[in-house]
Amino acid sequence: MLKVMNLHVYYGGIHALKGVNLEVNQGEIVSIIGSNGAGKSTLLNAISGFLKYKEGEINYKDNKVGNNPSKVVKMGICHVPEGRLVFANLTVKDNLNMGAYLRNDKNGISEHLEKVFALFPRLKEREKQIAGTLSGGEQQMLAMGRGLMSNPEIMLLDEPSLGLAPLLVQTVFDIIVDIRKMGKTILLVEQNAYKALSIADRAYVLEQGKISASGRASEIARDPKIQEAYLGSKK
Ligand code: ATP
Repeated sequence: MLKVMNLHVYYGGIHALKGVNLEVNQGEIVSIIGSNGAGKSTLLNAISGFLKYKEGEINYKDNKVGNNPSKVVKMGICHVPEGRLVFANLTVKDNLNMGAYLRNDKNGISEHLEKVFALFPRLKEREKQIAGTLSGGEQQMLAMGRGLMSNPEIMLLDEPSLGLAPLLVQTVFDIIVDIRKMGKTILLVEQNAYKALSIADRAYVLEQGKISASGRASEIARDPKIQEAYLGSKK
């Protein structure tokens, strides 16, 4: 479904991605794990058209993905960036409607809103609340819900559990599994390697801009080197 081939990204003199190859198949949850600065967000930003890349190619369903974020959304790819980035001065409901701004199927949009509210009952309770006053966990749910409002086929989730209390971390991972059950495909970037591997079908390990390991998530989780580097605190 999504294919990244030999991707190189530079920030001036910094070579952030050094020939990344990655594939995501329809219906999968694929996790990318890696330490700070490995290039995980850079990879998602390149896929969603926010970054220019000098070398390599990104294909989605055999079509080239270019550097135009709105076109990328129209192709069915939705990126929920790190740090939530909700519209702080708008209500929950208006934030969700913003997620559908490229759609013009009014009935589909309201049907979708109900689905998002079913997935995130907390957002339904708070639909008139100003987004900037939501808790961190609620803002994360809103960012994911807004992403779903574009009716994507694949969601790119960047660190959805970052900064959340343990109970909420579990809720967010449960919701990711529910989103997959809705028929969506998920590419998940996470520092919480333990949880990310526990829900994924396959995983890639990104180290200093290169994929250093890949395979079935359960196998990656059993790899002693990976356990030492990324799962140590969870054993
Ligand atoms: P984290 O888990 O800490 O968010 P990451 O794996 O997502 O890290 P990136 O944010 O993709 O890593 O950064 C990869 C490298 O590129 C880092 O060395 C970072 O400093 C650098 N970098 C990222 N964005 C820029 C930028 N706009 N300008 C210059 N360098 C950048």
